[in-house]
Amino acid sequence: LALAGARDLQAVVDEAFTAYRGVDDGEVATYIPALAEADPDHFAVAIATVSGEVFSAGDSNRTFAIMSAAKPFTLALLLQQQGPDFVFEHIGVEPTGLPFNALSNIEDPPLAPLNPMVNAGAITAVSLLQAESAGQRWTLLQNWYSAFAGEPLELMDNVYRSVSEGGYRNRAVADLLQLHDRLGASPAETLEVYNRQSSVGVTAKQLAVMGATLASGGSNPLTGQRVLSPELIDEVLAVMMTSGFYDESGWWAYTTGLPAKSGVGGGVVAIVPGRMAIVGYSPRLSPAGNSVRGLLAVQHIARELRLNLFRTA
Ligand code: GLN
Repeated sequence: LALAGARDLQAVVDEAFTAYRGVDDGEVATYIPALAEADPDHFAVAIATVSGEVFSAGDSNRTFAIMSAAKPFTLALLLQQQGPDFVFEHIGVEPTGLPFNALSNIEDPPLAPLNPMVNAGAITAVSLLQAESAGQRWTLLQNWYSAFAGEPLELMDNVYRSVSEGGYRNRAVADLLQLHDRLGASPAETLEVYNRQSSVGVTAKQLAVMGATLASGGSNPLTGQRVLSPELIDEVLAVMMTSGFYDESGWWAYTTGLPAKSGVGGGVVAIVPGRMAIVGYSPRLSPAGNSVRGLLAVQHIARELRLNLFRTA
C-alpha cells in the first residue's frame, strides 16, 4: 500500500480535528489536582511520519503532562539495558484487564505477571533500570525521552509537585511491590523517578515524533539519531497492543488494530510500524482514563487511511 501523500495526511488530520472538536464526553482527571486545571476543550491532532514530516491541527504546540504515555519509552530503555528475557521474567507481559492503578493484581495472587503499561509494572520498570541514584535514574530517562522527541523535554514542576503530594495509590503499589520483593530500588527512589517521568511536558507534535521513532525502527526521523535497537521495537509494540489502554485494550485492538498508549494528561499515541505515529490530545477522559477525543481522532485517521494492522481486505 502506498503511503498517502502529504496533502492527504494534512487533510485527514484536519478532518479528524473538525469531526470531534465538539465532543465533550468524559471527565478531566481530578485525582491529580494540577491535571484538573487543564482546559478541557484543548484538542490537538498530529501525525509524524518515518520520513520526518509532521502534520497537525489544533493546540498541537501546547504542552501537557505525558503521564502514562511515557511508559512504552521507559520499557524501551529497560529492554535496551536488560533485554527481553529480563523484562518478561521480572515484570511480565500479560494484560491485566484491570484499571491502570489496580492493586489487586499485585496482591492476588502474589507474583502474578504484570505488564509495563499499568502502574504496578511501570513502577517496577523504573526501579529495574540500571542507575546509581535517583538523580542518575531520572537524568537517564529525561535524556532518553528527549532523544525520542528529537529535542529537550522538560519537567512540568507544578504537575510533579501535585503528583507527589497526592499519589497515595501509587505509594501503596510501590509498597506492595517491595513487600513481594519485586523492586530493584527503594520504593521512595522509584516513586520519585516514576512521578517525574509522568510529569514530563510534551506537545502533541513532540509525542508524535517520539512515536514515529518507534515506527521507524528506533531512529529519530527528525534528527537521524539511532535511539533504540531495531530488534527491540516488536516487544515494545506488542505490549502496547495488548495492554496500552488497560481495561479498554481489547476493545481498542478490536476496533482499531494499532499499538497505542494513553496518559491521563489527555495524550494518546498510536504507532503504525514502518509508516507513522498518530497523536490525539484532549484532557477529557473515558472511565478507563483514555482521552475521548484523542481516541476518536486516532480511530478516524486509522479508518480513513486503512491502517489497521490486521486488515487483509
Ligand atoms: N502518573 C499517573 C499515575 O500514576 C499516570 C497514570 C496514567 O496516565 N494512566 O497515576
